[in-house]
Amino acid sequence: MPQLLEGKTALVTGVANKWSIAYAIAQAFVREGAQVILTYQSDRQKVTVEELAHSLKIERVLPCDVTQDAELEQLRQNLKGVVLHSVVHAIAFANREDLTQPFAETSRAGFALALDVSAYSFVALARATRAACNPADRGGASLMTLTYLGAMRVVENYNVMGVAKAALESSVRYLAADLGPANIRVNAISAGPIKTVSARGIRDFSKLERAVKLSPLRRNTDPAEVADTAVFLASDLGRGVTGNVLYVDAGFQIIGLALPD
Ligand code: NAP
Repeated sequence: MPQLLEGKTALVTGVANKWSIAYAIAQAFVREGAQVILTYQSDRQKVTVEELAHSLKIERVLPCDVTQDAELEQLRQNLKGVVLHSVVHAIAFANREDLTQPFAETSRAGFALALDVSAYSFVALARATRAACNPADRGGASLMTLTYLGAMRVVENYNVMGVAKAALESSVRYLAADLGPANIRVNAISAGPIKTVSARGIRDFSKLERAVKLSPLRRNTDPAEVADTAVFLASDLGRGVTGNVLYVDAGFQIIGLALPD
């Protein structure tokens, strides 16, 4: 069977462990024949990410803390001579207290931190990888990020992360408009709740997972199906899609009101 990403190279950020959505994406990209490069945030994570890369037969692992301009510049330098066809941004962070206390209590610093790491970093990453992206291919280059329904609707306890995701989704549209003439596509995947380290920071996350039984497909979101959507966006099959938020959430986002049993 032909592989969808044969001959393509992808940079995947945000792999923390085997449960990370980015790990599922890297796995699917490798399955489809892509050369994958992973990044890690700090030396604390270096060995773990190198081991995970090894398990996927990925050879290249680069440092990149997205809050540090010097590291983004270093990433740009490290990518010299590499032709990238896709970039996956799977990074978010907010202080734990901002995901537990009422939203109105969010501090200025907590708000700025969540927006910096979870939204601005996508813009910064797009800039750092711009020179390496190869728009000559038929499908162009494809940048993608991960978002959540809390950008559009109020989801209890998602708080400042919802505001950050709203900024991220808007950034997707502005980046798509900026980079489209160079045949670089920019999209977001809005995933349903998946139990990961980041997700555990959200109070009562397990209740969010239980709520998905109201979704049309009556089930949770599997990281592998999020990853397959990322494959579609990275492949030439997605060549006409830009500036979009694609929901991979078992259809949960269409439900207005489901009556309790
Ligand atoms: P995860 O495994 O905890 O991944 C989050 C990643 O962000 C980690 O690898 C973390 O690195 C990285 N990160 C945080 N700050 C960073 C920084 N300054 N520089 C570089 N990397 C940094 O959780 P995940 O659920 O897979 O999250 C991936 C993305 O999916 C996030 O944008 C999240 O909001 C989104 N998403 C998740 C869900 C869900 O239910 N899980 C649903 C929709 C969207 P360290 O481990 O080194 O800190």
